Amino acid sequence: MNCRAVRKRLVAYQDRELSPAETEQVAEHLGSCSGCAGLERRLAAITPRPCLQVDPETQQALWERLDTAVQEAMDEVPHPRSESSWARAHRWLAEETRLPTAAVLAYAALLLLAVAWGASNWWAASQLQTRLEIQPTTTALDTPILPEAIPADQYRPAAYSPDDPSGDDP
Ligand SMILES: [Zn+2]
Repeated sequence: MNCRAVRKRLVAYQDRELSPAETEQVAEHLGSCSGCAGLERRLAAITPRPCLQVDPETQQALWERLDTAVQEAMDEVPHPRSESSWARAHRWLAEETRLPTAAVLAYAALLLLAVAWGASNWWAASQLQTRLEIQPTTTALDTPILPEAIPADQYRPAAYSPDDPSGDDP
């Protein structure tokens, strides 16, 4: 690897982003080329690399603080089991259907109204039928009037038919 190729890779080399083979080639060149080695030292001095320079103790403390912050943020999120079934249904509806809840509720209300309207009509119809059924079906006119002059065994009610005016009127 020549100087040009090594200098192009110096930042990546310091960030440990090179492949093992490239890292080995660059290190080998830096060991034999004072120019590139000097450049590498100056680059390391001026480039802030917090992740590589922080001591393990500070890093550990940083991770612990991050863990605590994440844990606190997680605790603020409502636990799925603690939410009411209504809230769960609301969330499911929002996630699954992407429909505005107001529209869904309006539709449900309309459906309920339609069912109620149908039920009330059915009830009214059944009430009407009951009223018709309890009306007397027999009237005084249906009761045969037996003239006293005709013996009961000889009496035959008139069978007049409007279609056949001749009938068999006795
Ligand atoms: Zn070189």
